[in-house]
Amino acid sequence: MTNDIPFDKSFDLPPGQVEEVMPGVRRLLVDNPGPFTFKGTLTYIVGTGRVAIIDPGPADEAHAAALLAAVAGETVTHILVTHTHRDHSPGAARIKAATGAKTYGEGPHRAARPLNVGEPPPLEASADRDFRPDIVLADGDTVSGPGWALEAVTTPGHTANHMAFALKGTPVLFAGDHVMAWSTPVVAPPDGAMSDYMASLDKLARRAETLYFPGHGGAVKDAPRFVQHYIAHRRAREAAILARLAAGEADIPALVQSIYIGLDPRLTKAAGLSVLAHLEDLTTRGLVATQGAPSVDGRFRRA
Ligand SMILES: [Zn+2]
Repeated sequence: MTNDIPFDKSFDLPPGQVEEVMPGVRRLLVDNPGPFTFKGTLTYIVGTGRVAIIDPGPADEAHAAALLAAVAGETVTHILVTHTHRDHSPGAARIKAATGAKTYGEGPHRAARPLNVGEPPPLEASADRDFRPDIVLADGDTVSGPGWALEAVTTPGHTANHMAFALKGTPVLFAGDHVMAWSTPVVAPPDGAMSDYMASLDKLARRAETLYFPGHGGAVKDAPRFVQHYIAHRRAREAAILARLAAGEADIPALVQSIYIGLDPRLTKAAGLSVLAHLEDLTTRGLVATQGAPSVDGRFRRA
């Protein structure tokens, strides 16, 4: 498949170094590079003096120490979490203990749908089941400090509890893993759901923010147009899946092999789950048939 998204992989912040990306917004990189995390997870500090921290990161003492040093002499008033994956939320406990700030998020980790009979939780290792926000945020809720206000924007899809944060009065949205400049995120059932993910993309495409600061990699510029590329990319993948099914391919390993040309072998399982996410969505929409609930080892055909 041709790469139709104008990805931008330029990003060269070393771990542990605080960088001001605009007045009142700093970022700090966790030293956890990998196929899902790119150069690592980004923690953002919003405000000056009385600040919010967005995504304190994994349970990583070196990162916690660097983050606490970055806000030395300031007061942390809020710890916000975009979603409960282990590279984003577990550090909240350590930062809360050190600062006394309350934690905020959409809710504890949950799947987008119940597990099917006999279905193993596929990317279980990525979930942080310990995080429970002190304060639950709903779509449109705002938290604020001197000189800043963040609006919660529910964006389910990558996880059911994914939330982005708009920095009010600016063109900025903290996008978590929903939209990133370097890659598309994994949408893996049962934690993720493709129908939710696409609806959340449509929601962001209608918003005014033009500059996204994501959980991994550099900023997304001209964001509404970039989101349209994301939507087109998923629609193209959906069309490719339907075409391969029409050509007689019937299982997920065959679909992954024919659609994901040149895939990093470490991402084969995630690609299979992404295809499953599309197949779930297509089955719900009546375009694909399978026996029972869609599953990674199921057989599929055009309905
Ligand atoms: Zn992440």
